[in-house]
Amino acid sequence: MKKYAAILLAGMMALSLAACGGSGSGNSNKEEAAPAETETVTEETGTDAAEAATDAAAGTAAEFTTVSEGELHMATNAAFPPYEMTSDGEGYATDAAGSVHFEGIDVEVAAMIAEKLGLKLVIDDMEFGSVITSVQSGKADMAMAGLTVTEDRKQNVDFTDSYATGVQVVIVPEDSDIATVDDLAKDKMIGVQDGTTGYIYCSDTVENGGYGEDHVTSYTNGAMAIEALKAGKVDAVVIDNEPAKQFVAVNEGLKILDTEYIVENYAIGISKDNPALCAAVNNALNELIADGTVQQIVDKYINAGE
Ligand code: GLN
Repeated sequence: MKKYAAILLAGMMALSLAACGGSGSGNSNKEEAAPAETETVTEETGTDAAEAATDAAAGTAAEFTTVSEGELHMATNAAFPPYEMTSDGEGYATDAAGSVHFEGIDVEVAAMIAEKLGLKLVIDDMEFGSVITSVQSGKADMAMAGLTVTEDRKQNVDFTDSYATGVQVVIVPEDSDIATVDDLAKDKMIGVQDGTTGYIYCSDTVENGGYGEDHVTSYTNGAMAIEALKAGKVDAVVIDNEPAKQFVAVNEGLKILDTEYIVENYAIGISKDNPALCAAVNNALNELIADGTVQQIVDKYINAGE
């Protein structure tokens, strides 16, 4: 995906910064939380240090607050398989009313994080474009939605470490004359999900490697963009690779273009006013990565079927 390469590399790949706002750079009024404690731990000795480390890793309840006591509210758009979707069965969490059940990689990982923190996971299902504002305005505790870390988004929320990767791919009808991303520039209409990185790249100016706002139609979710593609309202859909595979698998006559993919990192976004929660969630997440739980969950939804 050559056209995207320049912007992506310049704007999005500077991801080596520490999680949760980095050390001491958080702009919160509250006390620095767990990251600072790591320093204390190194000064302590033996068992004390070990105990302090365990406390920090467990993110003890006293250290953070959540929107609703005893609950961890996850802002997401549950139309993004295999990361988040509604479930016909019990799933791994429900909405606040307990009536809609959810599953997917993000939902399962979030449920495990909540369990480690002694909280109950609650899913706040909304449009993708609202997940970050919902966290910023204190309605939800964390945004987890196959959410790509970008420099712009980092201005609005703090991110945990990354737990998965994705790439933007192009879906076209099997008989399309679009063979490469360069063909998208030939007066084609591209369908994207509103507010996503796919939208950001495609709607950017031609000079910046995009195709221009006039060549992009935004839809509320991926399924609607795919319907528009099938109805011939758009010539292509740009979306993350794993949802793309699932959409192509269940819709006849579509294919994914073989292009030069640029890797994006998915992470959890948390309010800059709640560094203690970010640290606690990040610690729990890292434990789940270290003990192989995250990989097991990913394999269950992705690799197993291949
Ligand atoms: N990874 C993309 C983004 O963060 C799309 C996420 C989504 O649609 N749920 O913009």
